Amino acid sequence: MSSQKFVLTGVMGHPVAHSRSPVIHNHWIAQYKLKGSYVLLPVESGNLHDALKGLKALGFAGCNVTIPHKVEAMKAMDWLHPVAKQMGAINTIVVQPDGALHGFNNDGFGYIQSIKDAKPEWRADAGPITVLGAGGAARAIVLSLINEGAKEIRLVNRTKSKAQDLANEFGSAVKVVDWIERNNALSGIAMLVNTTNQGMHGQPELDLNLSELPSAALVSDAIYIPLETPLLATARKRGNATVNGLGMLLNQARPAFQAWFGVLPEITPDLNKAVAATF
Ligand code: NAP
Repeated sequence: MSSQKFVLTGVMGHPVAHSRSPVIHNHWIAQYKLKGSYVLLPVESGNLHDALKGLKALGFAGCNVTIPHKVEAMKAMDWLHPVAKQMGAINTIVVQPDGALHGFNNDGFGYIQSIKDAKPEWRADAGPITVLGAGGAARAIVLSLINEGAKEIRLVNRTKSKAQDLANEFGSAVKVVDWIERNNALSGIAMLVNTTNQGMHGQPELDLNLSELPSAALVSDAIYIPLETPLLATARKRGNATVNGLGMLLNQARPAFQAWFGVLPEITPDLNKAVAATF
């Protein structure tokens, strides 16, 4: 590996100081004995386009893009992966040898992979799926569930119009349910997904009654701080299988690392430990 060129990557957002991505990517750089670094790139919105143009000049192999730039950064791409186009947002940029910027969105891939890692026998078409929330995480998760074969997604969001927008874009598998009906929307489902921020560190817990939820339903939460949200704790105690948001975060990083460094990295217990130690 000694002839390998130094590879510079990072995460562009505002704020970015809280990002766990440097821990993940720098862990892999060390694990695979590569030369490179993954740095924080705090960039305010007004500077986004200049910063993206600067990636090539600064010798970056690419970067991740996070809040608040995931949508706006698309406009600066020379090419977009079809999934990123469908999602309407990017989270990964790869600088091509000619300097062209290619945009990808690996969040949906990360989500589905995290479910398959936890439950290899899981199938998206096993029964209705209820998704709470209609923000950025929901866009990635709902689209990837549909692409994976989900037949019925009950989409419940506090602001109904945002759920309706997603249903209009993503097609007839998405059925919008009023927020007030959320407890009843758990009846007969195979899977429940929380993509709201409720239950995240610093936020109130999700206001949801699980009494209608079948005990065989899988419960997943996109949140990873804390690793076990009150929703997951309640679900676990009543016998439901649960999956937290850390696997989504770790898995979305794998294809990006591969594009920049040429190695598809593994999620090992050591990596899980290194990231969990930052919480
Ligand atoms: P976002 O675009 O801001 O969406 C936030 C969602 O939460 C919206 O649906 C919003 O509903 C809902 N919400 C906010 N306050 C609420 C309340 N009081 N009651 C009910 N619903 C409420 O955020 P996002 O990017 O989708 O992120 C959502 C969560 O997913 C965050 O906790 C984030 O950490 C997590 N996430 C995890 C990963 C991962 O890799 N694991 C990746 C992305 C995001 P309204 O439309 O009504 O405002």
